[in-house]
Amino acid sequence: MNIPQNIISRLNELPIEEVADRLGIEVRRHKALCFKHDDHNPSITFSTSKNIYKCWVCGVGGGPIKLVQDKEGWNFQEACIWLGQKFNVWYLDGNNRNFPKRTSTQKYLTKHKEETVIFNKEVYTWLINNATLLDPAKMFLFNERHLDEGVVKKLRIGSVVNSLNMVNALIKRFGEDVCLKTGLVRRGNDGLYFYFYTPCLLLPYYDMDGNLIGVQSRYLGTNEKVPRFQFMSSQKTRLYNLPILNSLRRGDKLYISEGITDCLALLSDGLNAVAIPSATILPIEDLILLKNYELHMYPDQDSAGEKAFMTLRRFFINHYSIVRAEVLPSGVKDYCDYYIKKQETNG
Ligand SMILES: [Zn+2]
Repeated sequence: MNIPQNIISRLNELPIEEVADRLGIEVRRHKALCFKHDDHNPSITFSTSKNIYKCWVCGVGGGPIKLVQDKEGWNFQEACIWLGQKFNVWYLDGNNRNFPKRTSTQKYLTKHKEETVIFNKEVYTWLINNATLLDPAKMFLFNERHLDEGVVKKLRIGSVVNSLNMVNALIKRFGEDVCLKTGLVRRGNDGLYFYFYTPCLLLPYYDMDGNLIGVQSRYLGTNEKVPRFQFMSSQKTRLYNLPILNSLRRGDKLYISEGITDCLALLSDGLNAVAIPSATILPIEDLILLKNYELHMYPDQDSAGEKAFMTLRRFFINHYSIVRAEVLPSGVKDYCDYYIKKQETNG
């Protein structure tokens, strides 16, 4: 998510002493005790003309956004979101939602109340059962990606196009309290909203026994500020498509892909595949389950892909197994790209 430059400027024009006040810093006669160290004589001074602060002992200083970062230990984006929320500086995204607000709610929840969001299997199962595959999802999966309908059906991939309808249906079925506790429905300043940005695909994660263990979304809209993928619950540390292991025998060929997108293409190509959620996430306990198969991988044709392969290779070597790298044709960036090109040439 990129915060527009004009918003950043507006945030940096917020009165520095008021920002300090909201952060719990006691300001007297343009001075305050430094929050970075033990301070008995106020070492921080505020310049209301330059709208900056500075500690004359440790040297920390800057404008309003920097002050929030320094005080709370947040990154630039987090500081902007917090400021926007406190001082009602918003901008609208393409779907006319107050964009930073909902992310900040998420951040706030994960930062301070991690246990608030629980993975309620009943609610999520209902969601997956009711998130039917609508036109934008079909367009994406079948017309653009040429994926196999049988594969999509077996993986129980669904979609949500109208988030408000989904929120209403969820609340009607389970009540507001339960829905809020699942994290699927959240409360912002404008009322309730759906956690996943829509329109989106919903991709359920199951364990080997077929229990729903998580959901990942794949945004299908055009807003570039929206994250392409969102995860819910423990699936960040799980493999995608674990149930396939039930149909494999020791020594069978199995592909590991980086991300769901390539996994869907591999499966549609008739290959056995599971996916690690992203290059930086290694679901170690699930990966150990793979060590007795003949493992293959098509690393993405970039340094991140190469790095992901090396990490996996090292992991399996440590577990007395190997994963073989296969090479994509030149000019093709990943398996999905390769698969689409093949389909379009054949079809
Ligand atoms: Zn200081």
